[in-house]
Amino acid sequence: MERIVVPPREGRAARVRRGQRVRVVDLEGAQVGDLFAFVAEDVGEYASAEHTRVAVGRLFPRPGEAFVTNRRRPILRFEADTSPGIHDMLLAACDPTRYRGLGVEGWHASCQENLQTAMASVGQTRVEVPQPINLFMNIPLDAEGGLGFAPAPSRAGDHVELRAELDCIVVVSACPQDLVPINANGITPLAIELLD
Ligand SMILES: [Zn+2]
Repeated sequence: MERIVVPPREGRAARVRRGQRVRVVDLEGAQVGDLFAFVAEDVGEYASAEHTRVAVGRLFPRPGEAFVTNRRRPILRFEADTSPGIHDMLLAACDPTRYRGLGVEGWHASCQENLQTAMASVGQTRVEVPQPINLFMNIPLDAEGGLGFAPAPSRAGDHVELRAELDCIVVVSACPQDLVPINANGITPLAIELLD
């Protein structure tokens, strides 16, 4: 088993073979992980939350279902989840503009930059920034369709397990969002574990 630690506020990429299982672990709890997956042979095809919502007929993912690409092909199958099962497929990755809008002056780490840096580390310098699968992120909906920003309910050691349906590059960003309370305990590390 290979383990890649994703430091707080950073992102990491891992190459995953078709059939291989990958875990994303919340090491200390209450940390959102933005998950991206690109087809290895053509990074213009990637896991797409909006296409996945159509495929599964739901707003949020659950085990047994597959995340599909922007070409509607399964790329990662969601096989197991030890967390309370709260994940988001609605919100865009945080980016510099989002932080400026929240009043930040100067640079602030973001999932968009983390994705771009992680993909550059595996030789991919021009990639889309897809809408991520926001692991452990708690975005409750009210009856009028309003969105909340609630702390991630995941506990230390909670993880999700995915199986690759295509050879792909998986990126996980330990979301640096510290201006809304989604990362309750402050920004903490995650891990990517590559099994068999
Ligand atoms: Zn983020």
